[in-house]
Amino acid sequence: MEGFGKFFQRDKTFRPKKKFEPGTMRYQLHKKAQASLQAGLDLKAIVQLPAEEDLNDWVAVHVVDFFNRINLIYGTVCEFCDDTTCPTMSGGPRYEYMWCDGVKYKKPTPVPANKYISLLMEWIEQHINDETLFPINVDVPFPKNFIPVCKKILTRLFRVFVHVYIHHFDKMVEIGAEAHVNTCYKHFYYFVTSYKLVDQRELEPLKEMTERICK
Ligand code: ZN
Repeated sequence: MEGFGKFFQRDKTFRPKKKFEPGTMRYQLHKKAQASLQAGLDLKAIVQLPAEEDLNDWVAVHVVDFFNRINLIYGTVCEFCDDTTCPTMSGGPRYEYMWCDGVKYKKPTPVPANKYISLLMEWIEQHINDETLFPINVDVPFPKNFIPVCKKILTRLFRVFVHVYIHHFDKMVEIGAEAHVNTCYKHFYYFVTSYKLVDQRELEPLKEMTERICK
């Protein structure tokens, strides 16, 4: 985690950071997860649900953290990702993602990568700020669709890794953020695969790289 500040304090946060309210149980859980991460513990081990915690809370905290971290990662390359460099949201020649939110984009629509990621982050933000979905008060139960919605959020966040790794990795290496991005990716990968939150089929575009770094 060293060097984090160096790359990411450039005021280029793609979207504002979502914060946990200090004093809440989820804030404590977030701090706990952050502490194990900073202590450089085994990433495969730190994704395991602590004995006394609830899986929904654990997932909620991670969804918000990954949203913030992936947002920062994209923020470091977003000035190099425009309609000309990346006219589609692709992950190599075999994968192209189309945006669909059922509201403004009623059917899958091809858009440039920066537009796709901007729509995606906005869409995630709306969900994590929705208190009926991510209740702030621990007395309020999580809704029945909580895990399915989180699966969708994480599946879409994964696509940002796909785009950054396939199209902007040189830039990442150039600014010296490679190790940080790899750590974040591994943490994300171990988390989503431990709880089966993203389909194998969706993980396919980064399969080779994953085999190389997640062993
Ligand atoms: Zn791009």
